[in-house]
Amino acid sequence: MDAIRTAILEGAPAEELAALPLPASFRAAVVRADEQEMFADLPSEEKDPRKSVHVDDVALPELAPDEAYVAVMASSINFNTVWTSIFEPLPTFGFLKRLAKESVWGARHDQPFHVIGSDAAGVVLRVGSAVRNWKPGDAVTVHSNYVDDQDPSAHDDSMMATSQRIWGFETNYGALAEIAVAKANQLMPKPAHLTWEESAVNPLCNSTSYRMIVSPNGSQMTQGQTVLIWGASGGIGAYAVQYVLNGGGIPVGVVSSPEKAALLNEMGCEAVIDRKAEGYKFWSDEHTQDPKEWLRLGKKIRELTGTDPDIVFEHPGRSTMGASVFVAKRGGMIITCAATSGFMLEFDNRYLWMNLKTLKGCHYANYREAWEANRLVCEGRIHPALSKVFSLDDTGEAAFQVHHNQHEGKLGILVNAPEEGLGVTDPEMRERLLAKITLFRRYGS
Ligand code: NAP
Repeated sequence: MDAIRTAILEGAPAEELAALPLPASFRAAVVRADEQEMFADLPSEEKDPRKSVHVDDVALPELAPDEAYVAVMASSINFNTVWTSIFEPLPTFGFLKRLAKESVWGARHDQPFHVIGSDAAGVVLRVGSAVRNWKPGDAVTVHSNYVDDQDPSAHDDSMMATSQRIWGFETNYGALAEIAVAKANQLMPKPAHLTWEESAVNPLCNSTSYRMIVSPNGSQMTQGQTVLIWGASGGIGAYAVQYVLNGGGIPVGVVSSPEKAALLNEMGCEAVIDRKAEGYKFWSDEHTQDPKEWLRLGKKIRELTGTDPDIVFEHPGRSTMGASVFVAKRGGMIITCAATSGFMLEFDNRYLWMNLKTLKGCHYANYREAWEANRLVCEGRIHPALSKVFSLDDTGEAAFQVHHNQHEGKLGILVNAPEEGLGVTDPEMRERLLAKITLFRRYGS
């Protein structure tokens, strides 16, 4: 790996990189199958990624014809890294076993370890015989929609494919590793004005928020619409705020501290609700919600914007869904991609049907949506939400911080990049956009 790293850092020509021998094994952040019961009797908060995530040597798997080896310069923590590392709601080894049954190439994924990670920025080292658009030496980002293109159900919107998976969560050989194995249709150009770590944090959260806010497959927000965004300075929220502002909408960002509120104001989000300061208690006990509290939130939104939200960007799940369904405008949409606080939801259906609201499920993004979201980053119209950077060895600590909501935006992980700040090939563009690119970094340090 040392020779490969040096060649990349010194900008070696593609032929030189392609000629370097690949290592028999590489370092990777993994969870281990023989530890999947380690937290069995603990409550979620006590399940500790620092104990379950290890950095192990992993044998390099064979490359399928439609795949590429990518030398990962940087990666990031996603909430799915947290789910995998605390083995909730299920250990991910079951996903790998299912994939293994589908094909000879799928069988490689069923291992006693799971290489985790769903975001990467790096350099292509080798491509399989069927890959046409990418070659060794290409600087890329990797999105995490993993689809079998021989599956007919993948050929309208690939997120509808019965075979659809999230790379590094439902597949092995993900991004938190010196070498990742990705399908060619996961690769996208790396933004020239960003460092490796700034490039690495975008694909998963940026693409998810693009589909939820911009795409016809999501809520397809139009100019002047009001959008309530839970967790607006978190991973997906930070990109949702940018899409709403770019599209001429009015974001109402919900956060849980004055610092996060200040960050949102600096992004240009004027309507901010500090949910802690307001002390909302949507659940009066484990089984009972308090509609008066929903009403209080609705009043606050009207006070700030003069209207009810056309769209609610929902992901906390059990804690907030009752309130989200209540506050959405008549005819509005609640769009959800997650349920961080619990997936058994409860809301008063009368507010949904009598007011003709839509509750819509949304999940990640197809290649075209991810590509568009990546293009907007490349053009400097969407900016990375990178707040802090860790080493590969500290992946468990970074996942712990996300698990306990101690972060803003996104946490980056340096893998082959020996330090921050490398990988920029358009310094002029970077200089022009520096304040926006580094906004979350200033709040995270
Ligand atoms: P994140 O960085 O942890 O941000 C989530 C934010 O939500 C937190 O910063 C927190 O903000 C807020 N929050 C957490 N618990 C809450 C609660 N009980 N009530 C109200 N707000 C709460 O995570 P993320 O990357 O944005 O991901 C959020 C969720 O979306 C995760 O469950 C993740 O798995 C899921 N996700 C799904 C997809 C998909 O494709 N389906 C893609 C990406 C993420 P404050 O404390 O500041 O309010």
